[in-house]
Amino acid sequence: MEGEIIKSEDILSYPISSLKGIGAVREKLFKKLGIFTVRDLINHFPRDYEDRSKLVKIKDLKDEEAAAFIGTVASRVKVLHYGNTKYLTIQKVEVSDETGKASVIWFNQPYLKNVFKIREKYFFYGRVKRSKNSIEIQNPIYEKIGEALDQNTDHEQLKKISRIMPVYPTTSGLTQTVIRTAVEESLNLVEGYLYDPLPYYIREKYKLAEYSFSIYNIHFPCNNEALKTARKRLAFQELFLLQLGLLSVKMTFMEDKKGIILSKGELTQKLINSLPYKLTNAQLRVFNEISKDMESGKVMNRLVQGDVGSGKTVVAVLSLVKAVENGYQGVLMVPTSILAEQHYQTITNMLKDYNIKVGILTGNLKGKEKTKILQQIKRGEIDIIIGTHALIQDAVEYHNVGLVITDEQHRFGVRQRLLLSQKGENPHMLVMTATPIPRTLALILYGDLDISIINEMPPGRMKVKTYAVNNRMRERINNFIRKSVSEGRQVYIVCPLIEDSENIDAKSSVTLAEDIAKKDFKDLRVGLLHGKLKPSEKEAIMKEFAEGKIDILVSTSVIEVGIDVPNATLMIIENAERFGLSQLHQLRGRVGRGKEQSYCILYNESNSKIARERMKVMVKSNDGFVIADKDLRLRGPGEFFGTRQHGLPELKIANLYQDAELLKEAQNVAKAVIEDDPKLMKEENTLLKKMIDEMFRQKIDEVSMN
Ligand code: ADP
Ligand code: MG
Repeated sequence: MEGEIIKSEDILSYPISSLKGIGAVREKLFKKLGIFTVRDLINHFPRDYEDRSKLVKIKDLKDEEAAAFIGTVASRVKVLHYGNTKYLTIQKVEVSDETGKASVIWFNQPYLKNVFKIREKYFFYGRVKRSKNSIEIQNPIYEKIGEALDQNTDHEQLKKISRIMPVYPTTSGLTQTVIRTAVEESLNLVEGYLYDPLPYYIREKYKLAEYSFSIYNIHFPCNNEALKTARKRLAFQELFLLQLGLLSVKMTFMEDKKGIILSKGELTQKLINSLPYKLTNAQLRVFNEISKDMESGKVMNRLVQGDVGSGKTVVAVLSLVKAVENGYQGVLMVPTSILAEQHYQTITNMLKDYNIKVGILTGNLKGKEKTKILQQIKRGEIDIIIGTHALIQDAVEYHNVGLVITDEQHRFGVRQRLLLSQKGENPHMLVMTATPIPRTLALILYGDLDISIINEMPPGRMKVKTYAVNNRMRERINNFIRKSVSEGRQVYIVCPLIEDSENIDAKSSVTLAEDIAKKDFKDLRVGLLHGKLKPSEKEAIMKEFAEGKIDILVSTSVIEVGIDVPNATLMIIENAERFGLSQLHQLRGRVGRGKEQSYCILYNESNSKIARERMKVMVKSNDGFVIADKDLRLRGPGEFFGTRQHGLPELKIANLYQDAELLKEAQNVAKAVIEDDPKLMKEENTLLKKMIDEMFRQKIDEVSMN
């Protein structure tokens, strides 16, 4: 088999230019679709199908449905004109079968005049327009069929045309016929050389179709049943490999799994009692779940999901304190230095009456200061360490890490999280995210994490009132800004760009900040915050804003994650059409954090359906889970789960909505396989290992939800 596999590899790697009919021009077009080899072609799955397999009688043709039928030409081709130039023409021909008559029409295809001859038989497939007294088929595909044929479905020629046809994703200049032919040729080429990556024992157990059958039938299904079977098998394979890949990454990081046993202690209860507010039931419940994990003797692996503003920070702090009172260090990693600084302030403040030392480590620290803090961390003189990616650098050594937390987990990759946990000996692990992740995606990304949900907001929060507006409202909105500031509140204005761009017509923070500081709001204190500023500058600005020294903070989406300034009650988003739904929700989450009524204004200049749809969702809903769900639906799983966003291999066929059940199954199988053969060294798993290595060739480092 070894040699055969090598041969199969060879064939699969043939460049598509080795196929008939693919020269330089078409090769280039295929490359645009990411298709370079025969392997790419057979993995270029149809986006849809046309069912040309069922032959319908003319009398049974239904309005607005695409249908296939055989008709005998009953008239010459008539040419009609429409519009007011002589170039716009309609070609019309009458056809019939034993049950009735229909007109077949095409637009602007003058050459058809000489194609059809009376009494010839044709196969047609096209969309039907049916009214009381007429049946019309518009722009059908057609093919002449032999005289002898009397609707005999075994007829060879008919079998070729009257079948379920794939419709491929394509690019302009590349017709469906060209793609179909290329795929078909590739399939012929690899016939007998496609080895099944799923071991027989798995296929058998889960009643999955064989690989080559599935590949063939996903492109050219013999019938609908075969298509279903093929699709299921391929979707399973995709989800299974993805899961197996993620699990095997995990395995290389965590081999031994004995957890540190922490005791109950008293400090956390004391802290809970001394807080200026009462924890919500949801916060208490989640902290309880965390405590149980940490006392259990197993390594905690928990994901905490809670909408923006639900109060995740305090839950993190309690968990950190629990580690500290048991004599361990606790580490909190966040995606931006602004957020690290903010957490540092909050936490230091919360723990000021406790004998707990809090430190911060970000990329901004240099020289002596950095050396000093690194030493303190190593010696165990700092108990709680807050920081950015700097926390996982090689140079950082910890004394004894008992708990690692990543906040805003969606900004981190799987590997970063694992690297952080490697800094200790099987420390407990907590990941927090404000971006509500659809359940299915959480399953994929976090595999066997336990999930806790903070599904309750602190009391007294009012729904952020949200309005979608356009430029004509600017005067009124400006007055509203002025009014808010005069009442002592603060305002964010978020722009999509940092600086003006020649290519993109959207507001930039730099220009807008300059403009309003000179004109509309020259009497107010305007600040500017964006990603290109030096870290120290960013921190200074955020600090001023938090202290109320800035009235209006013009910013980019850098303020998207985590920032907590309860006195800010107005969020203005310029060119809101340029942000995704989940991002808009995150941005809006920067206000509505205090007791005052807060507002969010979305400037939308786009008329696109999707933009308007997004604004509608935002205006209507304040619930992050609902919004994430809508986001997923509006963007479609392809884009939402695309490689770019997550660093995960792209799902080509599985659909996380429809295939949630399949995903669970795939996940169970993957777990079983890894338990049985952690390094995939067994003979029967050889091909599996190879597929995974291929799938994850793009760096696993980048796996994240960003
Ligand atoms: P997020 O979940 O978005 O990280 P934060 O932890 O930043 O939310 O909390 C948002 C705000 O709510 C903070 O100002 C915090 O002090 C406050 N907060 C948290 N828990 C409660 C509570 N139980 N009651 C009242 N306010 C709370
Ligand atoms: Mg937070």
